[in-house]
Amino acid sequence: MLNFIYEQLPVRVVFAAGSFDRLAEEVERLGLKRAMVLSTPGQRRLAEEAAKRLGVATAGIHAEAVMHVPVETARLARETARRLAADCLVAIGGGSTIGLAKAVALDTGLPIIAVPTTYSGSEMTPIYGLTDGGVKRTGRDRKVLPRVVIYDAALTVGLPAKVSGPSGMNALAHCVEALYAPDSNPITALMASQGIRALGRALPLVIKEPLNLEARGEALCGAWLAGAVLGTTAMGLHHKLCHTLGGTFNLPHAELHTVILPHAAAYNRAAASGAMRLIASALGAGDAPQGLYDLAKKLGTPLSLKELGMPEDGIERAAKLASESPYQNPRPVDYAGVKRLIEDAWHGRRPA
Ligand code: NAD
Repeated sequence: MLNFIYEQLPVRVVFAAGSFDRLAEEVERLGLKRAMVLSTPGQRRLAEEAAKRLGVATAGIHAEAVMHVPVETARLARETARRLAADCLVAIGGGSTIGLAKAVALDTGLPIIAVPTTYSGSEMTPIYGLTDGGVKRTGRDRKVLPRVVIYDAALTVGLPAKVSGPSGMNALAHCVEALYAPDSNPITALMASQGIRALGRALPLVIKEPLNLEARGEALCGAWLAGAVLGTTAMGLHHKLCHTLGGTFNLPHAELHTVILPHAAAYNRAAASGAMRLIASALGAGDAPQGLYDLAKKLGTPLSLKELGMPEDGIERAAKLASESPYQNPRPVDYAGVKRLIEDAWHGRRPA
C-alpha cells in the first residue's frame, strides 16, 4: 500500500539557454531592487555580467566565495550585504557560491536568486553548510531555499571536463540513494530515475564535446532533479561514507563520490533490488553497480581511492568510523562489509 508524505518545495525555475538575460526581469518580478551579486574570485567576470544585466538593481558585487563556506567568509558576506543595504542575493556559480548566499540568507532572511554554473544541485535544496575550524556543520532551513533558479546551459560550457564529470557523478549519487531512501515515494522515484537517465546520457557527450549545448542542457536538467531529490529524501551509506572519508583524509568531494558510488550500490544491490532495476534501466545497463562503474570509466574520472591520495592503512579506520553510528540504509551497515567496500574502492575494482 502506498503511504507517504511529500512536501513540494516552492522554487520557480527558468530553464533555457540564454535565460541569464532574464535575470533583471526575475528580480523585478519579486519586487526587489538592490541585489548583491555573489561569486568566487575566479568567476568575478561572470558576476560583473550579472551586474550589467541587473543595471540599477545592482547593490554591489561580492566575489569572495570559497569552498565549504568558512564561518569567517560567511560573516564578511553578511556584513557586506548589510553595508550595501541589499534586499536580495544573486548567487552565480557552483555549490560554493550558492552555499555562501545560503549562509547570508540564514542570518538575514534575504531571498536568493540562484544561477548555477555546475551540477552541484545546491540551488534546489534547503540544506546549508558552514565550516568552523575545519569542521563542517550542515542544517536545513526553508529560508535558504532559492526563490528563483535560472538554469542557462550556456553558462556551463566553460566547466572543464575534469570538473564536469565528477560534478555530474556527484549529482547522480543523490538520485541513486533517493531511490532506496526510507522516505522515497513515487514522485521522488520519478525525478531520481529521470535524473540518472539524463546524466547517464549527457555526461559522456559533455566530456567529448564540452561545447555541445544540448548535452550541457540535459546534464543541467539531471542536476536539477538530483538536487530536488537530495532536498527531499534522506541519504544513506554512500553519502555517510563520502562524508567520513572526505573529512578524515581531506579527499576531493565530487571525485570521492564518483569513486565510491559503484561500490556503495554493490553493497546495497541485494537489499534494494527494486531501486537497482530502476538505476540499471535508466543507465541502459544490465547491472546497476557495474553500469555506474562503466559510466565513471567513460568519463575518464579517477576510479580508485588510491588515485585520490587516500593511504591504504587508513581503510580500517575509515570502516570503523563509517560503521560506528547506525543510520538508515537498505542493507544494515556492518564493519566487515564496509571494510570490503572501501578496499574495493581503494583498488578501483569493477564491482563483481
Ligand atoms: P564549486 O562551487 O566549489 O566550484 C568549483 C570551481 O569551479 C570554483 O573555482 C568555481 O569558480 C569554478 N566554476 C564554477 N562554475 C564554473 C564554470 N561554469 N566554468 C568554469 N569554472 C567554474 O564546486 P561545486 O561542485 O559546484 O560545489 C561544491 C560545494 O557545494 C561543496 O562545498 C558541497 O558540499 C556543496 N554542495 C552543497 C549542496 C547543498 O544542498 N547544500 C549540494 C551539493 C553540493
